[in-house]
Amino acid sequence: MIDFADDAQDLIAGYRRFRARRYREARDLFHRLRDTQTPATMIIACADSRADPAMIFDAAPGELFVVRNVAALVPPYEESGGFHGVSAALEFAVTQLRVKQIVVMGHGGCGGIAASLAAADHRPIGRFIAPWVEIASEARDAVLSDATIASKDWQEAVEHGAVGQSLKNLSTFPFVRGALERGDLNMDGAWFSIGRGELHWRDPESGSFSVVDTGADLNDSGDGI
Ligand SMILES: [Zn+2]
Repeated sequence: MIDFADDAQDLIAGYRRFRARRYREARDLFHRLRDTQTPATMIIACADSRADPAMIFDAAPGELFVVRNVAALVPPYEESGGFHGVSAALEFAVTQLRVKQIVVMGHGGCGGIAASLAAADHRPIGRFIAPWVEIASEARDAVLSDATIASKDWQEAVEHGAVGQSLKNLSTFPFVRGALERGDLNMDGAWFSIGRGELHWRDPESGSFSVVDTGADLNDSGDGI
């Protein structure tokens, strides 16, 4: 018997529920996926514990290739030294798995975006966080210099703008640009409202976000089911 630390008990209890329910239902699927994966979609999302792509898109194992980091950011293409985790995942998804679409999904109340706003206010956070969220600085500065956006709306506006920035950065990767030009790849932006459990989709032309309807045949009220 393994002697689990107290902090691990919830994880182990969750694993046992997974084995008793979801794994039992999906045993054949896991078996088929043992040696291969062919996800059609790559999702780039925030590491935030409240915005889980697999849950939001009700996806089964094998359907989504997911990268999560602080604020769901994609850095621009660069060949300098260093450990390029997002770039490696992107390269794998596009050149090896040949995903058909990439979705960048931001979310409400994003701590990474709050850190970007704090940096603009000369309050940089962390040894690694502040430099990382600089990826969103162009989008942030566009919001801060827009007199029509009230300060109470800055956070959400930068969350939206950062998705656009990441999409722009995606197309700086030669293999992404090539796949886009061949028509083998689509890119989209999304944003998830945690408080409302609502997905918003980005208009590629205007960069504005609209709420996605939940489908006429689904009971959205949650009553009695
Ligand atoms: Zn976040």
